[in-house]
Amino acid sequence: MKAVVWQGPSKVDVQEVPDPKLLNPRDAIIKVSSTAICGSDLHLYDGYIPTFMPGDIFGHEFMGEVVELGPEARERRPDLQVGDRVIVPFPIACGACTPCQRGLTSLCENSNPNAGEAEKVMGHSPSGIFGYSHMLGGYPGGQAEYARVPFADVGPFKVDEDLSDDQVLFLTDVLPTGWMAADMCDIQSGDVVAVWGAGPVGQFACLAAQIMGAAKVIVIDRVPERLAMAAEHTGAHPLNYENTSVLKELRELTAGRGPDRVIDAVGMEAHTDVTAIHAYDKTKQVAKLSTERPHALREAILSVANGGTVSIVGVYGGLVDKFPIGSLMNRSVTVRTGQAHVHRYLPDLYRRIRSGEIDPTFIISHHLPLADAAHGFDIFKHKEQECTKVVLKP
Ligand SMILES: [Zn+2]
Ligand SMILES: [Zn+2]
Repeated sequence: MKAVVWQGPSKVDVQEVPDPKLLNPRDAIIKVSSTAICGSDLHLYDGYIPTFMPGDIFGHEFMGEVVELGPEARERRPDLQVGDRVIVPFPIACGACTPCQRGLTSLCENSNPNAGEAEKVMGHSPSGIFGYSHMLGGYPGGQAEYARVPFADVGPFKVDEDLSDDQVLFLTDVLPTGWMAADMCDIQSGDVVAVWGAGPVGQFACLAAQIMGAAKVIVIDRVPERLAMAAEHTGAHPLNYENTSVLKELRELTAGRGPDRVIDAVGMEAHTDVTAIHAYDKTKQVAKLSTERPHALREAILSVANGGTVSIVGVYGGLVDKFPIGSLMNRSVTVRTGQAHVHRYLPDLYRRIRSGEIDPTFIISHHLPLADAAHGFDIFKHKEQECTKVVLKP
């Protein structure tokens, strides 16, 4: 089959690789109909995630048709059958361990066969993730014609035929991730919510914050068309950090107190208009002295109101430098974070799409054949051609 394969920093290729096979009686094989390139794929693409190796297959946002089903998956879940159309959550979860039972499926204790590698970096291991490094399981991703899905009785979620791929594909990651970002804020009526990053996750975090009752949502980015998209589709108030002082403007918009809840939907490759800070972070990151460029996170922490909440869904891989712990501690700020527990949010978000309350398709800028994946990564990384989200069609 054809698959999108990493070749080293900023290099991807579509190559012929062996078809996936059932390896475990609970596996399924999915024939992929749509798969998206994610902002977090760019961290892999750029070489910032340890243990993602040349030859590895990208992709944790994919859906398609069940073409093979292991005997134990059939037995445990009789309603799932060959021929069903499904979306697949990006965290791999067994459904039975303590975190899974508590709805914390991105922390499944049974889906990362390389947990020891993750423990060296993080102390404990999160779940395995499709196409996201050997440290997180070494699972081939779904930017391919076929993908093997472990714990097929737990993950795949059946979707109705009358909903298009574009309507449901983002339930695999970016919609639940944005939703969880707002959910972790525990938004109270009257709250002002500020979101760093107007990429797909930031767009959905803005939308979720509005639905959850925020009085005002402010979105911070530097890409004009992304800010305009958030204003149009989520009602967020746009701030372009290249044209304004974010801290000052946020104070002015909140009678001096700062936003009650702040969301980091940027993660480890943040840019800033303060050249010295960016150069410092970038130098440390390139020299592997720090694994992140945490400018957006620092700014979010310094902005949030006393007693407020910082919700982090932008992806970080390791250690940060110049982390304002004093600001957090002295001002009673709550920090909440995590990879999205997609399985937990999926049924509710599916119903909201089904009823027409949410139409996630507005983030899509490009549909490309799988064969053009390298072009897709390139324009997405450089934000060319007003690229916000690329959907690949195998
Ligand atoms: Zn993703
Ligand atoms: Zn589990």
